[in-house]
Formats: sequence, structure tokens, C-alpha cells
Amino acid sequence: MRIDIVTIFPNMFSPILNESIIKRAQQKKILKIRVHDLRDYTLDKHRKVDDRPFGGGPGMVMCCQPIFSAVQAIKQKTENRKLKTKIILLSPQGKTLTQKKAQQLAQLKHLILVCGHYEGVDERVKKNLIDEEISIGDYVLTGGELPAMVLIDCVVRLLPGVLGRAESLKEESFQNNTLEYPQYSRPAVFNGLQVPKVLLSGNHKLIKEWRRKQAIIITKKKRADLLSKHR
Ligand code: SAM
Repeated sequence: MRIDIVTIFPNMFSPILNESIIKRAQQKKILKIRVHDLRDYTLDKHRKVDDRPFGGGPGMVMCCQPIFSAVQAIKQKTENRKLKTKIILLSPQGKTLTQKKAQQLAQLKHLILVCGHYEGVDERVKKNLIDEEISIGDYVLTGGELPAMVLIDCVVRLLPGVLGRAESLKEESFQNNTLEYPQYSRPAVFNGLQVPKVLLSGNHKLIKEWRRKQAIIITKKKRADLLSKHR
């Protein structure tokens, strides 16, 4: 997969791109990420990317020209590779990111992520350039950079070959509209607190059954709304 990020704060991405699983995915050549400074695409001599809103009101709005130019330049560079591209604006007005959405995005070969700032972006960008607006939750952040990082993290870990053990994806939370069963590790007894005996039994059939039941119990207790999606 290739991911292009359009942002006015390119340096914000260094920590996530150069650590852990996302770093390894790039080393394994499963993932290519390029960060583009939006200011490199402005025609304004002061590298300005925003202006006052028509009709008045507080704050500034990100203008059309730099965003259209950046996305078009990225598309031109990747066009000859015939990658199917989806252009996403991180936006509190978008559909909320879910595990299902992450799985759909993980099937694609190329994502362009546009990070907004200030009061957001000119509506003409949303209507004429962007394929989809995605939100990471019903709250307002100062910019699209953190949402872009969240999206990248949850999509990239789903790409084949990125995680050491693909099975870990099969049983985790949200996979079957349930949360994951409880996990325990060594020691078997800590300060008098015991690990459930079945997990020490070595009986894989019983363990599987116990985990399935526990997943349902935990989901009922913490996120009953997920179970109703079964129906
Ligand atoms: N004035 C906008 C509104 O009320 O809808 C909010 C703009 S917000 C301060 C600036 C930028 O942060 C947005 O353009 C978007 O890129 C990003 N952003 C803020 N909250 C977000 C969220 N929950 N999910 C995704 N992106 C978000």
C-alpha cells in the first residue's frame, strides 16, 4: 500500500513513521508513506494556505488552490502505476472510523490523506476533490494530523505480512461484533490473584469454549450495543 499525507505540519509524522510496526512495514516494503508539506504547493509568495471565511465569522479557512494542487501532483506521480486511489479528508463531519472501515481501506492500494486545520477546509474541496470524509470520533481536534495517524495505524496493522501472527487479527475486539476475551500472562498467581484454571489446563477445546463465552460476557457488560449488530 502507498499512503500520501498532505499536511501543514509534516514533522508531526516522524515519530509514528519511524517506530514500531509502521517502521517495520516500510522496511518490509509492504508500505510506502510520503508526507507532503501543503505549503510547497501554494502559489502565494508567503506560502499562505488559509484565508478569512466569506460571509464573516471567526477563524480562517484552508483554501482550495494548495489542496487541489497537492492532490493533483501526487496523483500525477502515481498515475502511471495505475494504483486505485482514495482521497480522504480527516474531518469531524465524516463517518466515524470503525474496524470494518479500516478493513475496507486495507484492501486499497493507495490512500491520500488530507489533514485540515483552523476552521476546516473550503467546502469546494470536500465536494469536488475528496472521495470520503472520515472522523475518528465525535469531538473536535485542532488538526487532521492525529486522526490521520490513528487511521494509518489501524489500517496498516491489517495489511498482510505486517503483524507477526495473522491469527491475532482473527479474534480481537470488533472482529465478530464482540470484544476480545480476557488475556492473562505469567505468573499464574500474582499477589494471591489467580489466572482462571482452564487456561492452565492445556485443553485447547475447553480454552476455546471458555474464551468464546467470556468474549460474550465481556461484550454484554462493556459494549452491549455491539451484540445487537449480530441480529
Ligand atoms: N470548524 C470545524 C467544524 O466545526 O466541523 C472543525 C475544524 S477542526 C478545528 C480542524 C481540522 O481538524 C479539521 O478540518 C479536521 O481535518 C481535523 N479534525 C478535527 N476533529 C476531527 C475528528 N474528530 N476527526 C477527524 N478529523 C478531525
